[in-house]
Amino acid sequence: MSLLNRPSATRRRRAWRLSIRARLILLALLAVAPLIIDRVHLTESSRVERTQAAYAEVVTVARRARDAQAETIEAARALMQVVARAYIASAAGTAGSAADCAGFLWGFAGEAPWIASLSVVGADGRITCSTRRQVIGLDLSDRDYIRDVQRTRHYVLSDYLLERSYEKSTVLMAFPIVRPGSDEVEVLLAPVDLHWLGRLGQGVESRVGMAAYLIDGKGTVLAGVQSRERLVGRRFGDHPLVKTVQAAPDGTATLEGFDGVRRIFGYTSLPGTDARIVIGYSEREVVGKIERESGLAYLHLAFFGLITVIAAWLISEHLIVEPIRSLARTATRIGQGDLKVRTDPGAWAPEFAPLATALSDMAGRLAARERELRAANAHLEELASIDPLSGLANRRSFDARLATEWTRAGEAGRPLGLLMIDVDHFKLFNDGYGHVQGDACLRQIGRVLASVADAETDFVARWGGEEFVLLLADSGLDRAVDLAERLRLAVLALRIRNEGAPAGHITVSVGVAAHVPSPDSRPQDLIEAADTALYAAKRRGRNTTVVDSDVRRDDPPLAEAG
Ligand code: GH3
Ligand code: MG
Ligand code: MG
Repeated sequence: MSLLNRPSATRRRRAWRLSIRARLILLALLAVAPLIIDRVHLTESSRVERTQAAYAEVVTVARRARDAQAETIEAARALMQVVARAYIASAAGTAGSAADCAGFLWGFAGEAPWIASLSVVGADGRITCSTRRQVIGLDLSDRDYIRDVQRTRHYVLSDYLLERSYEKSTVLMAFPIVRPGSDEVEVLLAPVDLHWLGRLGQGVESRVGMAAYLIDGKGTVLAGVQSRERLVGRRFGDHPLVKTVQAAPDGTATLEGFDGVRRIFGYTSLPGTDARIVIGYSEREVVGKIERESGLAYLHLAFFGLITVIAAWLISEHLIVEPIRSLARTATRIGQGDLKVRTDPGAWAPEFAPLATALSDMAGRLAARERELRAANAHLEELASIDPLSGLANRRSFDARLATEWTRAGEAGRPLGLLMIDVDHFKLFNDGYGHVQGDACLRQIGRVLASVADAETDFVARWGGEEFVLLLADSGLDRAVDLAERLRLAVLALRIRNEGAPAGHITVSVGVAAHVPSPDSRPQDLIEAADTALYAAKRRGRNTTVVDSDVRRDDPPLAEAG
């Protein structure tokens, strides 16, 4: 990787870092994850349970219908038994007219509403007597149920029939009438009304889209609660529903019904027949309800998740992000130089307290370091402005002070005085007493200058070598000359021996000048004037004071010490 590519790589890495807030939200979601998973599991198992419950319910309803039918058949059989016995014993059964016989039968049929009619079939298979006049004489000898009864002498149920004559789906009950001592078997015949099928829904909560069919072994719909008009009598031999329900005595299946609506079907066989009772609930109705409830459960979960995220967001904002921001603000203030900032560790959470303490310590140490630096700076500044030998201000300080005073005097229109002092024959002193003594002498002279000057207004400095200057603020020539003389005499009074010099002692020559600064004059003019005067003092024999205005062209030439 080239060096140029590196920063962008760093940026890319950074972009992938999750914020603390996002991490906390993730943590909160992880914490509630088991709850959510458990809830999803519950919802899903409840969905399965409810579907299974729907299957169980359709089978139960089908079985109830079967039981109801069995009860009806049993009631019919008991009645037939009573009628058969009574028939044999009665006159109607022996020598009565057909009308008597019909009346006899009416007496029973009227009592049992689920019996549409009662007929007696003679041994030859023809109806001899009936509550329905129009069927008298009808030959039923080819009917299986008649033959079966005559052969077995037990009661027989026909297949389910859709008898046009009865206009109802029925099952015919054939009961043997055997007279004592006779080989002939008459048959008591009754179509048992299947009205019970219409009451299938009773006892169970009626449902929208529910269907109930009675289908015979050939796939003919004998009765149906749903779409009765359209379906009853129709044969659906190849219909998947017929094939499915005929494949087993009972069971469940989800497929399209005869009306094309998908349903959850439960079916069961009717004992002793190939017929099936089929009960179906609309799949959309059952599953839709379950889906709606599951959807609601998931909506609750989503809401719970959302509340968790919002709570985690707010809590992290208040308890973590804001404290971090506050600490960052403190660090920024420290960075901007506000070193008085202090944080109270007690006011922070234990995890933040060390950081708060560290920031306070950092601010404290930075403040201390700053104080040290200021002191060192001040010291360096002092060192840069002070002459180490005499302890007086140095030339650099003098130049700065002169510039300031010059401006101030110029603005005030007041004079500024300058004394330029040079030790006489100092070379000779050095030669005679050595440099160490020379230094000590210069220090002494420096102290005298400082003592003569007014600390408030005057400014003493070492000009360089054995030369000194005295700047007099707000002072004219009079004060300057006065001061120069006092100074010269004070040095003289030190009585420092200088054997080689004509005077025999250390003396100083002083050049005096005083100017009122004007726009066209410079501080340098004042220096040059004082220097000229000093030079004149030297020429006049040293140990003297000369004012620049007194300098004459005819001053004697400079006399050197011999
Ligand atoms: P004049 O009266 O004409 O001023 O004679 P002078 O000897 O004082 O003048 P000159 O300029 O010839 O000599 C100045 C001497 O001052 C030379 C030097 O050795 C001495 N000097 C300058 N600075 C120092 C210093 O810091 N310490 C010592 N001990 N001597 C210094
Ligand atoms: Mg000199
Ligand atoms: Mg000198």
